Amino acid sequence: MEWLALIKLKNNWQSQIHTYYQRILLIFSQCDLCGNATQQQTLVCSACLADLPLFKQKITQGDLLNWPAVNRSLPSIHFDHLFCLSPYLAPFNHWLSQLKYQGRFELASLFASLLAKEWLETQLKSSVDLILSVPLHISKWQQRGYNQAHLIAKPFSQLLQLPYQSSALVRIKKNSSQVGQTGAQRRNNLANAFALRQPLTKGVKHVMLIDDVLTTGSTASEISKLLKYKGVEKVTVVTVCLTLPKH
Ligand SMILES: [Zn+2]
Repeated sequence: MEWLALIKLKNNWQSQIHTYYQRILLIFSQCDLCGNATQQQTLVCSACLADLPLFKQKITQGDLLNWPAVNRSLPSIHFDHLFCLSPYLAPFNHWLSQLKYQGRFELASLFASLLAKEWLETQLKSSVDLILSVPLHISKWQQRGYNQAHLIAKPFSQLLQLPYQSSALVRIKKNSSQVGQTGAQRRNNLANAFALRQPLTKGVKHVMLIDDVLTTGSTASEISKLLKYKGVEKVTVVTVCLTLPKH
């Protein structure tokens, strides 16, 4: 009888521990946007996920440069295609700043999975050979402690099963803030700001370059120029957000 009582007690503990565990999981599986419980500990519930302001990739055939307003606002760029998840709107604008300044790293995985899903669903299985991410200058990296573009590129490359050379590109020129500068000023500032620290894998023709936001396109364009000088034929820029041109 004593044994039975002990087993019962043990089972009771186990079920209590299980209940607490479930409660803890519930706290961590609330939707980041509406607060409702989510399934399988995802960050966003299925209703909010369906409401995200994503670009309709089918309309632009997965390339925002096919959209005349975007194309006109990005003159003299050196990249060939542009794939972005969403305009710079809520919740993405808040999420990007939380990733960048508050270290909410789980958002990088969310961006990577949304980007991969859109990329694969729109059947843009073009011949990308290699993924790179836009680097930060060492002083900014030390100050922040991480590079948000790298945090997105790493899981994204794994989901797409593409090689990622995380430290091939380096930013050698420190930049003053680009806020408020014209496109020409930004291009001037960025001239020779990047370099290749490692040679690219042999035979790489099409590079996918990852960043968090694209605004004037000057950073991505400067890197594309360097890559093309090094023999790359095509560059597809992939970012979470695009700041839409003002009409
Ligand atoms: Zn929700």
